[in-house]
Amino acid sequence: MKSIIFNSKLAKWWGVHVLGLRDTAAVTFPNSIRFVKSKEYWNERRTRFDEIVRHEACHLQQKARGGALLHYLKYFYYHLKYGHKGNPYEIEAREYAKRNKTV
Ligand SMILES: [Zn+2]
Repeated sequence: MKSIIFNSKLAKWWGVHVLGLRDTAAVTFPNSIRFVKSKEYWNERRTRFDEIVRHEACHLQQKARGGALLHYLKYFYYHLKYGHKGNPYEIEAREYAKRNKTV
């Protein structure tokens, strides 16, 4: 696993300006999972935090599986075609996060 970063302005910027989403919680980059909010915020929301980490871990697997560059190209193609919720990579990540709950 790569590093987890909190209070990430880059994640906020990416969510708003690249994905067009106002409520992005976290973004996966090649070497990190970056959360917009603070560690203290997520310490009080551990169940949701763990689910997001699993979701982002699935995105890391997708990148490893398809190659990072091709993954990004396909991700943005699907993002434009289907929107964030309908993007097949997002659907897979949501299902993965739910399926792999440990509690
Ligand atoms: Zn996602």
